[in-house]
Amino acid sequence: MKSGKNFRQKSAHAFAEASEVIPGGVNSPVRAFGGVDTEPLFIGSASGSKIYDIDGNEYIDYVCSWGPMILGHAHPKVVRAVTEAARRGMSFGAPTQAETALAQKVVAAFGSIEKVRMINSGTEAVMTAVRLARAFTERDYIIKMVGCYHGHSDSLLVSAGSGLAQISKPSSKGVPQQLAELTVAIPYNDFEAVETAFEKYRGRIAAVLVEPVAANMGVVPPVDGYLQMLRRLSDKNGAVLIFDEVITGFRVALGGAQELYGVNADLTCLGKIIGGGLPAAMVGGLAKIMDMLAPLGPVYQAGTLSGNPLATAAANATLEILAGGDCYTRLEASGAALQAGLEHAAESAGIAVTINRVGSIMSCFFTDKPVLNFTDVRGSNIKMFKKFFSGMLKGGIYLAPSAYEAMFVSLAHSKEDVEKTLKVAHNVFNRIADD
Ligand SMILES: *Cc1c(COP(=O)(O)O)cnc(C)c1O
Repeated sequence: MKSGKNFRQKSAHAFAEASEVIPGGVNSPVRAFGGVDTEPLFIGSASGSKIYDIDGNEYIDYVCSWGPMILGHAHPKVVRAVTEAARRGMSFGAPTQAETALAQKVVAAFGSIEKVRMINSGTEAVMTAVRLARAFTERDYIIKMVGCYHGHSDSLLVSAGSGLAQISKPSSKGVPQQLAELTVAIPYNDFEAVETAFEKYRGRIAAVLVEPVAANMGVVPPVDGYLQMLRRLSDKNGAVLIFDEVITGFRVALGGAQELYGVNADLTCLGKIIGGGLPAAMVGGLAKIMDMLAPLGPVYQAGTLSGNPLATAAANATLEILAGGDCYTRLEASGAALQAGLEHAAESAGIAVTINRVGSIMSCFFTDKPVLNFTDVRGSNIKMFKKFFSGMLKGGIYLAPSAYEAMFVSLAHSKEDVEKTLKVAHNVFNRIADD
């Protein structure tokens, strides 16, 4: 790690140059570091648990491309699979056997999934799931939880989390009011709100859409019985239960939050890890709903690059590794060590934190209260998070540049990585306490 005030000079120059031709200098808003009042790093390369900026600084990476890189960066097996696929041709726009092999793996991993359709992004996965639910039920309204993020399609940019939570707007400009009105947004982890919504829109709710572990307002796990209650009320009211497992799928268990909590969804959205670092996503679920998709059924959905051979190769290689051995035990151990160490370091500095964690995803909220929903998240000390973030970055630890995002641990994070992270955190907490 270089020191001095110009240790990110090349990144600063690259950002200025990018900003002339790309809005905000970035191709996805949270990358701009707006939530931490600083400028983004431009990345040169990454390997295993480490990421390198173009100034040559090394960081231990806890962003992991916002979740996909569960094996660590540039895993040799995945790189080989993608390279070999590239030699056979980048895209055909025609079916391949690799897509069937991938679909079989997903059907085997998730008890609730009988069929899948591949697409290119999590946004599309949720958009398609909602369209299917509306067609299946012949209803229009959907229930979503405040602080959960489901991509940037029109109907779902209502009280959304992630980048939007920072801007503190309930929705995006450009989304017609008439569409927003079809989305009923209620607090996460609130049992009564679900009953109320079903009563108020009796016979009109097509779907309940939820992140089974919320991870776009920081990590907020479901309270006991919450997912079971959503299952029960969806059944009772004839609504489709959609789990957006774009983060939790293959992350909290091979079979996602559904395996971990023992609750099945009707439709499941997968993304991030399923692409192994390339753009791929899926919607999957019960055959009777999935078979409504074109060309079998009346619900239109399509994609020129869907099931792309490179992305499919990366996905097959990634899932093969995750299905074997003790991956989830190791991820749990790294996550637990990190949580315990951070809690200890904060406590010895006299700083109150609440750490929410499910396996290898976690968030450190600067508050002495439990964090169960978006209101609790907003009640945490964001100013302190910013100090924590910049201190960690200076010490060579790359965290998500926002208090509303999760920390991701990969299989490449070693004991030494965790120890170094905790050492830096210890110093940063002490410095914050002295301020
Ligand atoms: C990232 C994310 C999405 C959107 O996926 P993209 O690939 O960015 O479109 C949807 N839902 C959840 C839960 C996510 O974390």
